Amino acid sequence: MNENRKVRVRFAPSPTGGLHLGGVRTALFNYLFAKKNNGDFILRVEDTDQSRFVEGAEEYINNCLAWCGIHPDESPSKPGEFGPYRQSERKESYRAYAEKLVDAGKAYYAFDLPEELEEARTKMPNFTYGHSTRMTMKNSLSLPESEVRELLDKGTPHVIRIKMPTDETIQFEDMIRGSVVFDTNLVDDKVLLKADNMPTYHLAVVVDDYQMKISHIFRGEEWLPSAPVHILLWEYLGWKNEMPEWAHLPLILKPDGHGKLSKRDGDRLGFPVFAMDWKDPKSGDITKGFRELGFLPQAFVNMLALLGWNDGTDQELFSLAELIEKFSLERINNSGAKFDFEKAKWYNHEWIQKLSIEEIAEYIRPLMANHQPNIDAKYLESVLALTRERLTLLTDFWSNASFFFQEPTSYDLDTILKRWNDEKTAFFTDIGERLEAFEPWHSEELESFYKLAIQASGMKMGELMLPLRIMLVGGKFGPHVFDIAATLGKAETISRIRKGLDAIISEKA
Ligand code: GLU
Repeated sequence: MNENRKVRVRFAPSPTGGLHLGGVRTALFNYLFAKKNNGDFILRVEDTDQSRFVEGAEEYINNCLAWCGIHPDESPSKPGEFGPYRQSERKESYRAYAEKLVDAGKAYYAFDLPEELEEARTKMPNFTYGHSTRMTMKNSLSLPESEVRELLDKGTPHVIRIKMPTDETIQFEDMIRGSVVFDTNLVDDKVLLKADNMPTYHLAVVVDDYQMKISHIFRGEEWLPSAPVHILLWEYLGWKNEMPEWAHLPLILKPDGHGKLSKRDGDRLGFPVFAMDWKDPKSGDITKGFRELGFLPQAFVNMLALLGWNDGTDQELFSLAELIEKFSLERINNSGAKFDFEKAKWYNHEWIQKLSIEEIAEYIRPLMANHQPNIDAKYLESVLALTRERLTLLTDFWSNASFFFQEPTSYDLDTILKRWNDEKTAFFTDIGERLEAFEPWHSEELESFYKLAIQASGMKMGELMLPLRIMLVGGKFGPHVFDIAATLGKAETISRIRKGLDAIISEKA
């Protein structure tokens, strides 16, 4: 690494829909590397392909990054000195670079009509526009100069293609994979500038990375086949000395390890693949995201970082700050990482235990809006202290804790009804009254008080514990019963004992 060079990395998504977790991981690794090296993390929106542009996708990307705690130093909404940060707003500069390459003999005009390209493909099934076929096509290399001039003067639609060298190799050092070599004969003459004057991704990415002084590129392995074109462009444009270092991140694989994890795998296997809910603006279809399913951003980020990286120890839980501190390129695996949804949930469960109760409460509060909009902060925190151990997803909260907020609407009486008798009725009537005067209303004190009362009654412990639980929560579930009573408070506990007793008596009658 060139020590004097300021570290500047970019995440360059195309705003075409929901953000796949692989995309978030790419953003994360860029961010970790930048922050570790006191560098800048830039968000650049690659929206030159207008046919794939999707309304709302850019805002969605911003929201996903913000949710993960990945805050760009420069972006369309936080412009720095290298703007604009949307490729579509930078289009003026690209044509000149493409023309410069044509003048230098490194690129050429191609006038082939779509139907002519189609014909070439029909004649030769493996047709690629490249060193062995370009002279049979309609371009400024195959046509006489005068004809080329005429076509251009007439404003004939054309593209500009890079001229890949014949019989050469292109080699570069990938920071993750080491030396990578390409045979130029196997790389086609990629279009750099389209007929509508818009650059293709290949030209735009190189020009922008140069102009934005990008020092290191971390991107998905799916871009590796494009690397020779990009490297050649850096050289052809005369920028080789400023070329960034490259790292192609290993793929995130399907749970069985066979192939890249896709959105369809998520649908098929029942887990999200997007960071947050994505609503398709055309169909209105909603694809579920990790956030809405009940994941903490801390867990999501931690899980993503460990898909392809580890710190060399057994440690699995890392905060974003720790990831920044520990991140190292050397510890990125060079083979794909299998996605494991059960493991993702494990991270979430661990993080629910790791954060402070106050922090968890802040995540739970919006989920409670439908049930209990004006919940008391202290009460919510005491409920969480008793229930968080049972939560894998934040959205599990209501099913594990609703009885703290509403009294039972039905009682599971099957087991206790058979053995109910007048003695028990008398016991609970009496307990209700005696609790009115009981202090202090704490779990341990309540437990000793209740157990002493059982002893005094001469009945068995087991006979009177379950009924109390059922009166308080409606069934055979929930945390320690005296913790429940302590949290519910005196008035609510006594009221529930009385209502429960009434329900039992009327069932018994
Ligand atoms: N726009 C490309 C994408 O959508 C960026 C690839 C790169 O990082 O070079 O992933």
